Amino acid sequence: MEVMYQSTRGKGDLVTASQAILKGLSDDGGLFVPTQIPRLDIPMEKLSRMTYQETAYEVMSRFLTDFTEDELKYCIRSAYDEKFDTDKIAPIHQADGAYFLELYHGATIAFKDMALSILPYLMTTAAKKNGVTNEIVILTATSGDTGKAAMAGFADVPGTRIIVFYPKHGVSPVQEKQMVTQKGKNTYVVGITGNFDDAQTAVKKMFNDKDLENLLGSAGFQFSSANSINIGRLVPQIVYYVYAYSTLIRQGSIKEGEKINIVVPTGNFGNILAAFYAKQMGLPVNKLICASNENKVLYDFFATGTYDRKRDFILTTSPSMDILISSNLERLIFRLTGEDPAACAKLMEELSKGGEYTITPQMKAGLSDFYGNYCTEKETSEAIHQVFEKDHYVIDTHTAVAAGVYKKYKADTKDDTPTVIASTASPYKFTRSVMEAISSDSETMDDFALADALAKLSGTSVPKAVEEIRTAPVLHDCVVDAQDMPATVKKILGIC
Ligand SMILES: *Cc1c(COP(=O)(O)O)cnc(C)c1O
Repeated sequence: MEVMYQSTRGKGDLVTASQAILKGLSDDGGLFVPTQIPRLDIPMEKLSRMTYQETAYEVMSRFLTDFTEDELKYCIRSAYDEKFDTDKIAPIHQADGAYFLELYHGATIAFKDMALSILPYLMTTAAKKNGVTNEIVILTATSGDTGKAAMAGFADVPGTRIIVFYPKHGVSPVQEKQMVTQKGKNTYVVGITGNFDDAQTAVKKMFNDKDLENLLGSAGFQFSSANSINIGRLVPQIVYYVYAYSTLIRQGSIKEGEKINIVVPTGNFGNILAAFYAKQMGLPVNKLICASNENKVLYDFFATGTYDRKRDFILTTSPSMDILISSNLERLIFRLTGEDPAACAKLMEELSKGGEYTITPQMKAGLSDFYGNYCTEKETSEAIHQVFEKDHYVIDTHTAVAAGVYKKYKADTKDDTPTVIASTASPYKFTRSVMEAISSDSETMDDFALADALAKLSGTSVPKAVEEIRTAPVLHDCVVDAQDMPATVKKILGIC
């Protein structure tokens, strides 16, 4: 059965999976969605004996149907290898009455690695299949995590180059150090003097600049995106929810067919949408619990049916969830409209013009798969403290938002369904906030001293990703004004 992809705002034109991955975003501004969600038609008894890589093949081959078995297995093998510090790839840790699904064992110790380690292979394979001979140039604006994970994925991948722009004064010291020490002949990191929005706006402008596209084309280049709107990032994220379920079966924690809840700390709505797709495939899932920090647009949306981005942007200790426009929600909205691209486009236009939209009562009824709540900064810190006190297990700030919301869910509903919490970053990535929650003498330490202190206190070891940047030489020191970004790209590609 061939799965094709259509735009959430389009006229129903269909593209193959590989074309959707190459394009990233549809020309009409919509996101690509599968025309149908394939069934997970494999006996659980068989799934529960599979490795992560084997599970990945079963799930991804059902969505990316124009990839051959050899192509897909090559991509999976190349992505999920020794870059991960455990051969389980996504292990489960039981603590404080829940199962924490650790998605941070890849190269940059955040869950972005789960998809960004395979995207480069999917993309270069897609280019080959579609006869693209141009070198692919990935342009990315980052507020910290995505840029590093994308570079780690694309570094030295033949046929690609990656250029990352980050706000020079808007990322944490560890995040900046991670980026400016990035190795690889095809990686370029540029600080800009503006903020993240300036970088993002300039990147989007370059994507839509026809003259630049022609200039690039005549020099043998074309742009693509590693952003979370790419279907090539979404599909690999479905895998670990299936794998989590089969792991729980294998270790005897649940019985075949028994339902689980899944809690996801949410920003752009990509990770939780993958869990929703897993449920649509037939994975026995009860509630999808959407956890927000103080930027609680989604909580308000689930409660009222109105999505309203007109509010202050709050900087929190879970920065990867500081977001007011959750792009991937559009894919759920499209489903709720009964797959009506005109209705979906209208709501998205209301959002971009007036800053809000309201769904119909009928659409709202379709949200019953979800439960939404949020944590304040204080509650987030308390959640880290509590899990550590109870089970000597350290979670990061983003995961803590999920753990805190799960507490609220249990209190609200008395539901005791076995629950998986997506653990999206290593505590070593947000060491200062984590240490402040579990120790009283962290204030005077620098970030590396804090990592050592965390290791001592928790009995875990400092991950390679942090050790590496301690002494790594700075390889990128370019800083430009946002307005000079296009000129910088041309210079990097040698086409000025
Ligand atoms: C990106 C990110 C999130 C949010 O994931 P979405 O798919 O954008 O909802 C949560 N936690 C961490 C650590 C992240 O890097």
